[in-house]
Amino acid sequence: MAKPTVTPMMEQYLGIKDANPGALLFYRMGDFYEMFFQDAVEAAAALDIALTKRGSHEGEDIPMCGVPVHAAEGYLLTLIRKGFRVAIAEQLEDPAEAKKRGYKAVVKRDVVRLVTPGTLTEESLLEARRHNFLAAYSALRDEGALAWVDISTGEFRVMPCAPARLGPELARLTPREVLVSDTNEDAFREVIEDVKAAVTPLARAVFDSASGEQKLRDLYQVGSLEAFGSFSRAELSAMGAIVDYLDLTQRGKLPLLRRPLREEAGTIVQIDASTRRNLELTQALSGGREGSLLNVIDRTVTAGGARLLERRVSAPSRDLAQIHARHDTVAFLVEQSRFTEDLRADLKRCPDMDRALSRLALDRGGPRDMAAIRNALGQAGGLYDVITGSEAPRLLQDAAQALQGHDELVALLDAALIAEPPLLARDGGFIAQGYDEELDETRRLRDEGRGVIAGMQAGFIEETGISSLKIKHNNVLGYFIECTSTHAEKMLSAPLSEKFIHRQTTANQVRFTTVDLSELETRIHNAGARALEIEKRLYDRLKAGIMDQAGPIGEASRALAEIDLACAFADLARAGDWVRPEIDNSRAFEITAGRHPVVEHALKRSGTPFIANDCGLTKESTPAIWLLTGPNMAGKSTFLRQNAIIALLAQAGSFVPATRAHIGLVSQLFSRVGAADDLARGRSTFMVEMVETAAILNQADDRALVILDEIGRGTATYDGLSIAWAVMEHLHATNRCRALFATHYHEMTALSAKLDGVENATVSVKEHAGDVIFLHEVKKGAADRSYGVQVARLAGLPDSVVARAKSVLDMLEKGDRDSGAKKQMLIDDLPLFASAPPPQPVAPLGPSPLEERLGAINPDDLSPREALQALYDLREML
Ligand code: ADP
Repeated sequence: MAKPTVTPMMEQYLGIKDANPGALLFYRMGDFYEMFFQDAVEAAAALDIALTKRGSHEGEDIPMCGVPVHAAEGYLLTLIRKGFRVAIAEQLEDPAEAKKRGYKAVVKRDVVRLVTPGTLTEESLLEARRHNFLAAYSALRDEGALAWVDISTGEFRVMPCAPARLGPELARLTPREVLVSDTNEDAFREVIEDVKAAVTPLARAVFDSASGEQKLRDLYQVGSLEAFGSFSRAELSAMGAIVDYLDLTQRGKLPLLRRPLREEAGTIVQIDASTRRNLELTQALSGGREGSLLNVIDRTVTAGGARLLERRVSAPSRDLAQIHARHDTVAFLVEQSRFTEDLRADLKRCPDMDRALSRLALDRGGPRDMAAIRNALGQAGGLYDVITGSEAPRLLQDAAQALQGHDELVALLDAALIAEPPLLARDGGFIAQGYDEELDETRRLRDEGRGVIAGMQAGFIEETGISSLKIKHNNVLGYFIECTSTHAEKMLSAPLSEKFIHRQTTANQVRFTTVDLSELETRIHNAGARALEIEKRLYDRLKAGIMDQAGPIGEASRALAEIDLACAFADLARAGDWVRPEIDNSRAFEITAGRHPVVEHALKRSGTPFIANDCGLTKESTPAIWLLTGPNMAGKSTFLRQNAIIALLAQAGSFVPATRAHIGLVSQLFSRVGAADDLARGRSTFMVEMVETAAILNQADDRALVILDEIGRGTATYDGLSIAWAVMEHLHATNRCRALFATHYHEMTALSAKLDGVENATVSVKEHAGDVIFLHEVKKGAADRSYGVQVARLAGLPDSVVARAKSVLDMLEKGDRDSGAKKQMLIDDLPLFASAPPPQPVAPLGPSPLEERLGAINPDDLSPREALQALYDLREML
């Protein structure tokens, strides 16, 4: 039976396609990347480009589309954003080479790179001020580990991470792509997709810890990893998977990876995903960076500084010494404003060395990346002098040390490169005049070929004494020397005949060449190509020189980011009148005249002043909780969040928006908002609220700072009140943490009389001619009423409805008074739930009917409505 015939090119295409499953194949054909078959159909739709066809395969037309190579990056970006992975197959030889093998021979091609969301390095594909992390999660039997890398900066980290911690850690890092073993892909897909990262399942063998260790030893060329720290099997497995994947996607060209650093648990403040969302740390609830804390406080002037700020805000420190050193630095810079301004002016001229270096390492860089390193290192030298010549504190002095010692490289790059070189080495033109004699000469030949010939002609005239001698050019002979027949004899006899080689005699002329001239001829002819070749050679030499210094350059880059961030914090503090917080090991939380930086920033635009408020949760031996009541729109949420943000900023190394702040080290930060909509996940909002609240009650330790905003709002009044009440008691008796609790259940204010750690506070309002005026002032005490009807009126509810609501309210309040004694009794009888005692080891008992019923429920299978019903049923069983 005859096999279906396939053209040799199609055969090659299909072979490459088969070897790279799961990726669109960009198949290089001349100046285009072409896509065929299903790839073409999908890419044409995703890129909105024309779908055509080319030839046929097994009797069917082959769909095809293509993008020009010079514009490929833009298309790649679109495809990656839409969730595709792209394999790039290049031509590996000159088509002329292929022709030599026969007329039907196909140009050799193969995939040189697999482009995935976590492995980007191109400037145009990356956000300069944000990291682009690739992570790998490994779950071995009894342990888990998360490793992550930013190949555009070389940062490589790993940490132990139990499966339950994966969500919060991913929320902190927001990686673009996460590798997992295909055996536990199902278990982790949802948490990974929750942070909008791409899930990349890999064969289990890739996660083998022994081969992971071997891969790391090979990568760093060390006999043992001990010098880097001792890693668990899960950590080796996760790091090994990353190295393996980089090898796969970069096709053997491993990026520059710094030595892996182990992040110890307990060194940073734990913040889970919903707290990050609620506090809008790096992203506003609306989705963008605009309106986030990061956006308002970012005054860095370098991309590396901006990335460092994002890391610090996402992971504030719990190390007192480190926090103090950072505050010392900011304090110095706030005071020395001229000095700081000078540093910032220099920093502004520092391009992004990290990313330039990583592109060069992967052979994806160009002269402009070299210039970036030259310019930044040049500035670094100046910064070193300025800092070491000052009284700047230790942290800055230490950072400055990394900025020196680059003079040799800077001098080399300065001499070798023009001021503003092109992006790519391909077309040449980036090596400076005067750096390489041979190159200068070659370029001179290329540019001034005729001038050189003219000079040579003058030389020959002098040598021969024949003033009519000329150098001419035609297509047959190329360059030649010509004189009239009258001089023929002289030229054809010694000594001139030794140098001038006869080429042709015509009726009136004799034509000669010389060794020099024919050499010049070929040199002019090839000068363009040769100049390019020399530049490429010099480029490689410069690149080797840079790579040789990759370690110190990386150090310098980190130092610049650290200095930039300190200056940015100082600038922020000065502009907003922020103060240095006092951080210690106490359990204090004393904020005087605190402000919410984002709300204040937004109000400033409309010219409204922000009302600063105090917060005092200090209680040495007991938990300290404020119960905050007050009408909607009074400013409860703002107050709650501002205190969490102040704690976070302080531990991130920044000054804080207050006139005084004394904070005992915070270990965990929790923030919950009642019944936030989470329809996307198809869970009932109330269920989400309860799941999140449960997480706090189960995890918060006595150094946690917890803010709870309207917990219990999502259900019927008495249910809600009961839950809020019990949650409060649990926080007080079991978690024993510092907390702010906002509620509209006025009944709860009675708790302050019962629990010694609880105090009432309220956001005051004034009533004026039936309207409510928000004063946004937080003061001790309970709110007298809720002003709901007045707020409704402010919101524009029709007058008739407001009037009717008022009369209903009057009736209800009257009814309440009538049965005042009864109501008082009800409140005195609370708590409805006895507070849970601190966990004690108890002998295991059989499950109660309630537990059995609860165990049978699978929350994922329930609709929101069913979940609510289930909860009611469970309560019935109490
Ligand atoms: P609540 O949680 O009590 O409903 P919010 O905290 O959401 O109220 O605040 C409502 C609005 O009031 C905010 O959007 C802000 O514009 C304004 N506001 C809140 N706190 C202050 C303040 N301290 N100073 C000035 N305006 C404030």
